Amino acid sequence: MRLLTDGPRTFAQHNAERGFVPWQRFSSRAALVDEVLASGLRGRGGGGFPTGLKLRAVTWRGPVVVANGCEGEPDSHKDHVLLSRSPHLVLDGMLVACHAIGAAEAVLCVHAGSPLLAGLIRALAERGPDANRIRIVEVPRRYVASEESALVNFLSGGDARPTTTPPRPTERGVDGRPTLVDNVETLAHLAIVARVGAEAFRAGETALVTTTGVHEVPVTTRLADLVTGPVLAGGYGGVWLSASRTGELTVAAAPGVAVFRSPQGCGLRDTAGILAYLAAESARQCGPCMFGLPAIAGDFAELAAEVPGHALERLRRRLPVVTGRGACAHPDGAVRMAASALDVFAAEVVAHTTGAGCTDAIRRTA
Ligand code: SF4
Repeated sequence: MRLLTDGPRTFAQHNAERGFVPWQRFSSRAALVDEVLASGLRGRGGGGFPTGLKLRAVTWRGPVVVANGCEGEPDSHKDHVLLSRSPHLVLDGMLVACHAIGAAEAVLCVHAGSPLLAGLIRALAERGPDANRIRIVEVPRRYVASEESALVNFLSGGDARPTTTPPRPTERGVDGRPTLVDNVETLAHLAIVARVGAEAFRAGETALVTTTGVHEVPVTTRLADLVTGPVLAGGYGGVWLSASRTGELTVAAAPGVAVFRSPQGCGLRDTAGILAYLAAESARQCGPCMFGLPAIAGDFAELAAEVPGHALERLRRRLPVVTGRGACAHPDGAVRMAASALDVFAAEVVAHTTGAGCTDAIRRTA
């Protein structure tokens, strides 16, 4: 069963095409969680954590389900397309998650002013009492606002800024209650697992990938079959994979978000642009984000622009000392991505630092 339809369906059409969720099969929470574990489903927001283990971790009373539909990665549009074309599948997944952890409340988070709002409100209204436990919340449009601890803080009445973890949201989340935060694509897959069972899900598992548009492909698809050149797997906080690695790895290696570089582009310039964005988007409440990321972004910009000097030496010194120093993983992801760029675009680094000049032939070596 696929995630995307060719356009939104009414609730009645959705159920006619996909069938109802067979709640009777899951009389106990444990049976449903076991099915999800057996399906091998992993989170599609970038982390790739096993969904069944996350469901099992919520053991306290009064839990809440949070569906993250904010999609903070500027190069990713998969969640937007999913919510616009298959909103009922995401809502089904939220109810399945509620059933699995015993939650009476679920929140669907989207960016403030999102064009998705009207369709989502309409979809909720179509479902009647079935959806009374679901509400939609608009979250500020900032990169770190959709980080899971930031969402939890915002939904608890605070700022949409990350907070220190642990405790994880599954232990202490919205209003101090155990909270399951999952990406909307993960929840849509959960609705499919509940319908078809673990075995059929594994046999037909797909993933949403943003290249020139959003495509739904089997998870066994090689990254190299989607695009030529290196791939930034896992989004802006992920790692660059060289073109030779994309020939070996499938989309399952880039859970949730893959950023594809134009084969003609310079990987160092792409990385400098991403670092500048990440430095500007931090919540500026910890040292690594206030000082470390702007300095690293500045060094990378110099390296990318082939400015003579010692930017590369400063990067080699600065990158290792940032990790683990922030309240959240935002700076860790940025430096991991930057370090992987220095490895994958090693030939470009040499060209940029020796004055040899960065040519198309060098770029194709990555
Ligand atoms: S590490 Fe950066 S993004 Fe994370 S909480 Fe601190 S300032 Fe905010």
